[in-house]
Amino acid sequence: MIADPRMRVVAVSRFWRTPAHPTGSGPDYVNACAVLRTSLAPELLLALLHEIEAALGRVRDGTRWGARGIDLDLLAMQGLVRPDADLQAAWRRLSVPHQQAETPTTLILPHPRLQDRGFVLAPLAEIAPGWTHPLTGRSVRQMLADLPREGLEGMTPDG
Ligand code: ATP
Ligand code: CA
Ligand code: CA
Repeated sequence: MIADPRMRVVAVSRFWRTPAHPTGSGPDYVNACAVLRTSLAPELLLALLHEIEAALGRVRDGTRWGARGIDLDLLAMQGLVRPDADLQAAWRRLSVPHQQAETPTTLILPHPRLQDRGFVLAPLAEIAPGWTHPLTGRSVRQMLADLPREGLEGMTPDG
């Protein structure tokens, strides 16, 4: 796992194999979540995650959601909201075509797609089921239960 003196890994979920969407559009993904302990400010933690991605060979060429070897997202930091409640809500409610076309240039917390993704919520529920979204009031357990069934289709955990 990732080792860096500026953060400590406290818990790691299982590793979930997830088919690329739409089916056949590329190789399967492997998704996992971790709980970290850090004294870094959120923006510095995201910068560190980007440093780790680069060290693992990721080159950012402006393409969103394409196949890539590694993608480290910051899902949440306790109850912090960034940049503010209105902007987080605007990013959270963005339509799918806009989600792909528009890339945020500042940190958004909680991650605006968190509640929509089985591949995030299934591993997250293994390590932080009771974490509650500061703006919607939904827990990870509830968000996972709210997902349409096809949101988890084809996902298989290791072990
Ligand atoms: P998605 O955000 O839909 O999962 P992605 O991870 O493929 O898409 P990237 O190209 O890796 O998107 O990142 C797009 C930009 O999002 C980055 O430049 C990053 O600074 C910004 N960003 C904003 N909020 C976050 C967050 N909470 N976690 C990770 N990146 C974020
Ligand atoms: Ca991502
Ligand atoms: Ca990312």
